[in-house]
Amino acid sequence: MDATQRILIIEVDPGTCSTLADALRARGRQVIACRDVESAHMAIERYPFTHVLTDITFTRPFRFEGLELIDRIKQAGLSTSIIVVTNAGDDLRREAFNRGANVVLQKPFSGDQIRDLVECPGDTSTSAVVTFVPTLDDILSGDLLKTKFQPMVWTEDPKYAVGFEALTRLKTDSLFADPELLFRYAQRKGRVVDLEMAAAARSITSGSELSRVGILSLNIHPEVFAHADRFSDVIMDAAADAEVSPHRLVLEITEQGPLPDLGSVEAVAAVMRRHGIKFAFDDVGIAYSHLRAIAAVRPSYLKISQHFGTAVESNPFNRKIVENVEALARSFASEVVLEGIETEQTDEFARETGITFGQGYYYGRPADAEVLLERYRSHA
Ligand code: C2E
Ligand code: MG
Ligand code: MG
Repeated sequence: MDATQRILIIEVDPGTCSTLADALRARGRQVIACRDVESAHMAIERYPFTHVLTDITFTRPFRFEGLELIDRIKQAGLSTSIIVVTNAGDDLRREAFNRGANVVLQKPFSGDQIRDLVECPGDTSTSAVVTFVPTLDDILSGDLLKTKFQPMVWTEDPKYAVGFEALTRLKTDSLFADPELLFRYAQRKGRVVDLEMAAAARSITSGSELSRVGILSLNIHPEVFAHADRFSDVIMDAAADAEVSPHRLVLEITEQGPLPDLGSVEAVAAVMRRHGIKFAFDDVGIAYSHLRAIAAVRPSYLKISQHFGTAVESNPFNRKIVENVEALARSFASEVVLEGIETEQTDEFARETGITFGQGYYYGRPADAEVLLERYRSHA
């Protein structure tokens, strides 16, 4: 995105949101339109904006998320021009000014008023890009999730896949093209488990045929352990509907948050293992170090993230980490999956280091299930 102006709109009402976006669309600039503050915060963290258009109060009557957003922009020292569009009373409008709003405009407004406020310097001839960011409800009720799969191969003979990692995507192009952002957004809304259940069910359905070729590895946010009964019902139902054996399922515990207390993790993991489900630790060593839960979960796989894996052979420090995780895995009877293998050199390193499984662009990028089915079916 290299637009000269990048404008963020935060407006809950879909009609008003479109009116604002359309008014600004004419000027040839990048417009991102969010319908909740959580996605707006994600957008601000991701991109610099020349202008932000916001209301003062959104969904909750006694919370002034728009004012908090102004504080956030000011605290970050951003030179963003802040335009408040509101029908809040005088006191709140004054407060918006005090906090740093540049303009406060009364609703209802006209397109011309908005256009006048956001003048476009320089070339106005480039075509406008407007991205409407879906809300979590849009995503869940509109069935906007899809799944790509990436092969995890035997390093000794990479034409054989031990399994496939399910990687969640949105069907529409948006701020959430990166699934990490999507899951962080759901976490901010306090609904990461809802998203996870929908993503897992979708992955199982889309990967049903692939599960006959290898294991299906599903990423899960650690918070799932705090809602394990609900989550377990969802995946067992999805597996039954799609005729996927639970023995073919691996849950990759990501480093996206802390695990709850080890006692409950152990109990949940034991129940799931009894169903035949296996576990992996994803991105070992990156953030929360779930290794302390190794005895409670008894993971079948330790996955080393691309952060360490990519070009590991030429980085002595990462090399030590990978070799040590490999030794650790061996002593716990787990297998290592080295992620981020992009070149023949790293592939060779993995084999020589005794790493059983590899994953990365060198073997295959995330792809649709049908493509992988075609490629690996004859090597099952
Ligand atoms: P992850 O689970 O560690 O997945 C591996 C990521 O590395 C994927 O990014 C994959 O596309 C990327 N990758 C694969 N091979 C290579 C390579 O050779 N080099 C490099 N540089 N990268 C490679 P992706 O698909 O963007 O996913 C990012 C993260 O989003 C995942 O990291 C996972 O933590 C999270 N995620 C994806 N789907 C889900 C989901 O359904 N639930 C949860 N909780 N998290 C998910
Ligand atoms: Mg993963
Ligand atoms: Mg990983």
